[in-house]
Amino acid sequence: MRLNAPTVPGSSELITGTVSVDLDAIEHNVRILRAHTTAPHFMAVVKGNAYGHGLLETARSAVAAGADWLGTAQLSEALTLRRDGITTPILAWLYLATSSGGAITDAVQHDIDVSLGSVAQLEVVAGTAHALGRTAFIHLELDSGLSRGGARREDWPALVAAARAAELTGAVSVRGVWTHLAWADVPAHPANTAAVADFEEAVQEAHDVGLTPTLRHVSSSANILARPEFHFDMVRAGLAMYGLSPAEHLDPADFSLRPALSVSAPVVLVKHVPAGTGVSYEHRAITHESRYLGLIPLGYADGIPKGISGSSIVMVGGHKVPVIGKVCMDQFMVDLGHQTGVKVGDTALLFGDPEVGAASADDWGAAINSHGDEIINRIAPRLQRVYTHGR
Ligand SMILES: *Cc1c(COP(=O)(O)O)cnc(C)c1O
Repeated sequence: MRLNAPTVPGSSELITGTVSVDLDAIEHNVRILRAHTTAPHFMAVVKGNAYGHGLLETARSAVAAGADWLGTAQLSEALTLRRDGITTPILAWLYLATSSGGAITDAVQHDIDVSLGSVAQLEVVAGTAHALGRTAFIHLELDSGLSRGGARREDWPALVAAARAAELTGAVSVRGVWTHLAWADVPAHPANTAAVADFEEAVQEAHDVGLTPTLRHVSSSANILARPEFHFDMVRAGLAMYGLSPAEHLDPADFSLRPALSVSAPVVLVKHVPAGTGVSYEHRAITHESRYLGLIPLGYADGIPKGISGSSIVMVGGHKVPVIGKVCMDQFMVDLGHQTGVKVGDTALLFGDPEVGAASADDWGAAINSHGDEIINRIAPRLQRVYTHGR
């Protein structure tokens, strides 16, 4: 059976929650951060669907505002950027390097720089590039303590030696040397100073074997804001570019950074309930007095954390009202109080720009003992993204 397309309502009429992405805020934040660093190069990190903001739109805005590199974890996202015609240099640091080399073939053919942290990865990348008759541009990653990607300090000399040998064959060119700090989100931590000292030694060892990387890069958002001496040739901005706090005590507003993402939904039902009414599954909440409840058509399937129940965090009718009872899969209730002028169709703003009185994603993160990045990253892809630009 085929649906008769013209009679099917557009998705905007069907989907009840809206994720608004303020691309002006992204551009503004990129300009602020670029002005904040003396590093000549600026990477906009757009991994994870640009932290939930939408990969392509965010990447284009970041580039328009002056980002001259894009960074993804997954190579697949880097390829998506290329397929959309984005020609900005891209670094990807997460891919499977197997002997068949399939992913690397795509990277090399689409001029995507890849990160490397082992001789085994280097062999696959160099072998693949050689077979293609091309040069793979690589960034060597030092594991300076995160124990994630990268070569440990003791394995570094072998990696740079192998990289130099591969460079002499023409199969690879070492464009960058980089690390990601274990205490990246705690700028003042002494481990950062030690890790950066190790990094500088590692760069020296790369030079000693004849490598000439032009991009040394270490800092993500918190250190972009707080540790200028860690900026080197390029910084990699994620959270701060999205207007979120990258570290405790670093308030984006203090740097004039603005959140770009807001989530809202219409109130779909308003009802009066008497005192003593149990609300939602297992009646975890019971009204002490008669109340109006508002039904919000978003739930944990949309990324609303269950732990938000009880927090006064949803802006409806000009006030922040509490989430009452358990969050369900597609819906939750808010406590509108005794009397309410709230009507069906009024907007419930879950989080957004604090300037309009909304809670921030960071407030949501704090309310569930987490961080704003977990909130924005879990907002479901099924929600429609609406982009605003040029206001
Ligand atoms: C995610 C990530 C970043 C960006 O971190 P923020 O704290 O969001 O700025 C930078 N570099 C690497 C390697 C990352 O994985």
